[in-house]
Parts: sequence; C-alpha cells; structure tokens
Amino acid sequence: MSAQLLDGKVLAGKIKEKLKMQISEILKEKRRVPRVINIAVGDHHSACAYANAQIRVAEEIGIDYKLDVLPADIPQGKLIDHVRKLNLDPGVNGIMVHKPVPAHIDHHAVANQIDVIKDLEGVNVVNIGKMMLGKTSIIPCTPAAVMAHIDSTGVPLRGKEVVIVGHSEIVGKPLSLLLLQRMATVTVCHLATSEAGKLIDHVSRADVLVVAVGKPELIKGQWIKKDAIVIDVGINQVGSRIVGDVEFYAAQEKAAYLTPVPGGVGPVTVVMLMKNAIEAFSSQMGQR
Ligand code: NAD
Repeated sequence: MSAQLLDGKVLAGKIKEKLKMQISEILKEKRRVPRVINIAVGDHHSACAYANAQIRVAEEIGIDYKLDVLPADIPQGKLIDHVRKLNLDPGVNGIMVHKPVPAHIDHHAVANQIDVIKDLEGVNVVNIGKMMLGKTSIIPCTPAAVMAHIDSTGVPLRGKEVVIVGHSEIVGKPLSLLLLQRMATVTVCHLATSEAGKLIDHVSRADVLVVAVGKPELIKGQWIKKDAIVIDVGINQVGSRIVGDVEFYAAQEKAAYLTPVPGGVGPVTVVMLMKNAIEAFSSQMGQR
C-alpha cells in the first residue's frame, strides 16, 4: 500500500483560515492588525526569495509585513540599535532577523536583543528557555510545522518511538523538546550517528521519523519501518529538481504517512510565522 501524502498546502490552508478569522476579530476590536518586520542583512536575493513567500501569506491573512533590507557591511552595533528601535516602537509587534547574516555578525547576539514579547521566531534565549519549560506560545516555525503535520494524522504521540535525524538549533533541538512534552520517546541522530554506522538501526525502529539534514535522499526507503509517519524537512536542489532528505518513492511503499518535498513542511512553516505574529500581538495587547 502506498503512503498517504501529507499535503502542506492543504494543511497550511486550514491553518490560514483560522488565522484570518483571528485577524478579523482583532481588526474589529483593536482597529489595527499585527505589524511584523523581517530584517535582512545583505544577501538580498535569498532573503527576498524567502520573504516573498512570507509577504504573500501575510497579505492573504491580513498581517502587515515589512522586509527591512540593511547593507551587508552594517556593523553589529548598528544592527542592534535598529532592533532596539523596533523594540521601542509600539506600532511593531513582531521582529525577526533573517538567517544567514554576514560573517562579522553574531546572529545569537542580535537575536537576544529582540524584545522577548516581539520575538517572532522564538530565538531569544528567554523564549528558548521558556520552551523547555513548556511555557511559551511562540514556538520556532519549522518544529511547529512538523508538529502540525504529525497531529494532522490523528496518531497520538504518547509512548511512540520518534527518531529525529538532524540536531540543528532551528529544527532538531527545539523539536525534540516539543515531542518530549507530548510524552514521545525521542532519539536525536546527527552526523556522528552516521559516522558510527548506527543511523539505519535508529531509523528502522521509528514509529515517527523526522529528517532535517540537507542531504538529498540520505534516508533510504527500505530503512523505514512499515506504517511509520515520515516527515521530510530537507530541501535540496538537485539539478532542476527540489528533493528532500528521504528517498521519496521507496519511502511511499513503506510509510503510512509521508510529506512530499516540495509542498510538505515548507508551506506550513510560513503560516506558523504568521501564527506567532498573532500570538505576539495578542500578548502585547494583554499587557497594555
Ligand atoms: P543544519 O545544517 O543546521 O544541520 C544539519 C544536521 O544534519 C546536523 O545535525 C548534522 O549533524 C546532521 N547531519 C549531517 N550529515 C548527516 C548524516 N550523514 N547523517 C545524519 N545526520 C547528518 O541544517 P538545518 O538548518 O536544520 O536544515 C536541514 C535541512 O532542512 C536543510 O535541507 C534545510 O534547507 C531544511 N529546512 C527546511 C525548512 C522548512 O521549512 N521546510 C526549515 C529549515 C530547514
């Protein structure tokens, strides 16, 4: 039997509908909508390509979104001054600093200057700490999208063997915390797992497999446990095609549910940023 595809556009569409309703409530009550600023330093092309998807979704939902492109050689101090100015602006509800930043800038140092309550991506250390305690509504967007896909299957996570391949700060690590909060049994694999020759062992016992590595078709379909849920976060350009980190057609034969690449995790990630914008706005309104 072939896996059921977890269509990111369909899931994103459902979440967007809910967010649109929240925005119309906000508009009625507050006579304004959340305003978010995405700061990009140099590298205009990649920043703009990423931002274009966000601009489209923000428009659809009714969020005021602005891309601030700053010069590539801006000193870190000036960038921090810019973030602090936005922190103080009551008209700005959400701030993010597009990654990557040029080598002379420490992204952590800048992210830590974003007001905790305006931190759209949950990258400030306070929000990372709160997430560990299960006490924040601002969840990093890609892990939030992965959770939404898993939840869309209706399969409960409690007691399930979940294997994450990839331990990055933006995907694997925060995702492991979210899964632990749901009482899954979580294993996090990474480069050294492969080097030790143990990746297949871990992957093949996963009830739920999440792969976020950035290597085309690293995970072979035949490794996957029968009827697993497979979430492929990877985005890899191979010639003119975009492929994931999982061998798609072979995985389809084994898994019960599978996200396609493209069109799986990506569209939901963008919507999660907008969800965070509404969360941030609402908690700021609650403070006033
Ligand atoms: P990263 O480069 O920060 O981390 C890569 C991880 O993969 C590390 O944990 C590393 O140890 C592990 N790894 C590398 N080689 C490995 C191997 N042979 N075996 C096992 N593990 C290995 O990556 P990232 O920023 O988390 O991104 C990962 C992928 O996810 C990329 O393709 C990226 O484009 C994609 N991504 C997609 C979205 C989305 O919304 N769809 C969001 C973020 C990242």
